Amino acid sequence: MENTNNDNALYCSRCGALIGEDEDYEEVNGRIVCMECYEQHTTTCERCGEVIWTDDSYGDEYTTLCSNCYHNHYTRCSCCDALLHEDDAYHLDGYDYCSDCYHVRS
Ligand SMILES: [Zn+2]
Ligand SMILES: [Zn+2]
Ligand SMILES: [Zn+2]
Repeated sequence: MENTNNDNALYCSRCGALIGEDEDYEEVNGRIVCMECYEQHTTTCERCGEVIWTDDSYGDEYTTLCSNCYHNHYTRCSCCDALLHEDDAYHLDGYDYCSDCYHVRS
């Protein structure tokens, strides 16, 4: 077995940068991320506070949601694609609608 001095080296799981012993890092989904990636590519779910990748953000320009919260508590209007909290969604023929679209249809 070969032993290197870098056994404990940490690498950013996103950009692959080596994270020095005295450098800060964060964890996203249990994976190590350098501060630069953390600041540029992550955001926080408004509902549960979980840190998520900006790429994995559900929701719209006003609301940031992780996939969990989105799938458990939100839906989209079948007509205009508006983000809807489950409590605000109207159901018609198996589809979800926002208040506006629902009232136009019914
Ligand atoms: Zn990075
Ligand atoms: Zn969430
Ligand atoms: Zn709508």
